[in-house]
Amino acid sequence: MNREVDINEISDGRRYRSSDMVKIGCSDCDGCSDCCRQVDDTVILDPYDIFQLRKGLDMTFDALMADDESAIELGHADGLLLPHLKINTKAGACSFLGSDGRCTIHGFRPGFCRLYPLGRIYENGDFTYFIQVNECPYPNKTKVKIKKWLGVENLPAYEAFVLKWHDVLDDARKELSDVTDQSERSKYIVSFLKLFYQTPYETDRPFYEQFNERLADFESGTSS
Ligand code: SF4
Ligand code: SF4
Repeated sequence: MNREVDINEISDGRRYRSSDMVKIGCSDCDGCSDCCRQVDDTVILDPYDIFQLRKGLDMTFDALMADDESAIELGHADGLLLPHLKINTKAGACSFLGSDGRCTIHGFRPGFCRLYPLGRIYENGDFTYFIQVNECPYPNKTKVKIKKWLGVENLPAYEAFVLKWHDVLDDARKELSDVTDQSERSKYIVSFLKLFYQTPYETDRPFYEQFNERLADFESGTSS
């Protein structure tokens, strides 16, 4: 989700690349699970997250949202309808947080969870990372390379996808802002969701190949 904030108030004022070392290491969270208890509706999932959840849990997007106990739900974000992690109201935490305070899907957890407490700044057709200095109160943090912190397979391809996805969301918002008819807006929002999330990704094909096919449909307008 895009946020309009003064970057100097929430960061150390520096921009980083994935090859940079940053002081955010927290000894594998050392028994803390605070940020998994405070997710509210802020951990918005992208298509790569849905692909990873499909592979890791063998569950489709629809199955992940099937009932009241589901782990994700839809929410309005910047005019679109996008999925986000859902708080389990009984446990008061993300539905994927185990009773031992550890993430049960650590190996395929969403991108936002991997990133925290880093954020991304999108500028001039590129993005850099920044440290959200007011997040994660863990003391005596250690230095860690961003690439290692993220722990994503094929990081260059992932970062290229992140950039493309940011552009897709921007384009969708701009297109939607020109649509005033309510039923046309709803149709657009539903077809966007179906194209990038709901139509199951094939787990035996590379994600980026499938995403690029869907992107081509989006760009040619054949999806709506
Ligand atoms: S607040 Fe920091 S130490 Fe606690 S769970 Fe989140 S990242 Fe880990
Ligand atoms: S998916 Fe895992 S890391 Fe992310 S908020 Fe839930 S329990 Fe925490």
